[in-house]
Amino acid sequence: MTDDPLRPEPGLYVTATPIGNLKDMTYRAVEIMKGADLILCEDTRQTAKLCAAYGVETRRAPYHDHNAARVRPGILKQLAEGAVICLVSDAGTPLISDPGYKLVRAARDAGAAVFPIPGASAAIAALCAAGAPSDQFHFAGFAPQKPGARAKFLEKLSTVDATLIFYETAPRLAESLRALSEHLGDRKAVVAREITKMHEAFHEGSLSEMAARFADAPVKGEIVIVVHPPERGEADEAEIDDFLKNALQTMRVRDAAAAAADALGVSRNDAYARALVLKDDG
Ligand code: SAM
Repeated sequence: MTDDPLRPEPGLYVTATPIGNLKDMTYRAVEIMKGADLILCEDTRQTAKLCAAYGVETRRAPYHDHNAARVRPGILKQLAEGAVICLVSDAGTPLISDPGYKLVRAARDAGAAVFPIPGASAAIAALCAAGAPSDQFHFAGFAPQKPGARAKFLEKLSTVDATLIFYETAPRLAESLRALSEHLGDRKAVVAREITKMHEAFHEGSLSEMAARFADAPVKGEIVIVVHPPERGEADEAEIDDFLKNALQTMRVRDAAAAAADALGVSRNDAYARALVLKDDG
């Protein structure tokens, strides 16, 4: 280890890299990669291209699902000795549908410092341009492929009152949209393709419309599916009041409001405010 004042603090740096456009690399990511003792790569050949583009000459070693358990103890030992280690994946942010979680967990458990070097991630890039509500979202990653497991996975998600974000591959796109429409209802959705690359495209439509469209005209490239939240029910005021009055006989205000929100599809805050009034009146 050197006494270089520019040397990054020892620790594990979880470093985001571009998801297509090389210019989405951050200054800080380049600086940390240059200053590190070692870069752990999902695929060393892929990271070699990035390093060549930015003049990074740091030693690289593989860290992926197949060798992680074997090499982790050695990495932890280096961290304990004060090494500066960078973790990158092939594209985007490590740990987001990519390796790294167990290493971060183990590094923290061992008392090593872990620093995020934030940057691109396809999920956030898709969300911020899709035009779906962004106040609450649920990142679902890749849905299971086997129909039984996928049905269970999607049924659980069907009640989540938030925008849903899925990763998918082009060959499975049409089938995946069909399954989403079957289990989530025919919601509005956006297929974000090749984000930040030459053929970037955002396709919008209902899940079933797009399932048919992509079955007829398959596309290539990398894909994120953004699904709008379930439509809120149009319960009228009398219906909400009846529900709340009934619920307030046995429940606290907060629980009655939550039950009304779940049962009638109204906002939890609105139901809470109304429940307070009814409680005071009653
Ligand atoms: N760690 C990455 C991130 O932060 O986005 C994700 C890695 S995951 C193995 C790869 C998946 O991310 C692809 O199958 C696709 O669903 C999505 N993805 C990555 N780059 C993309 C891009 N440029 N456009 C659309 N989707 C992309």
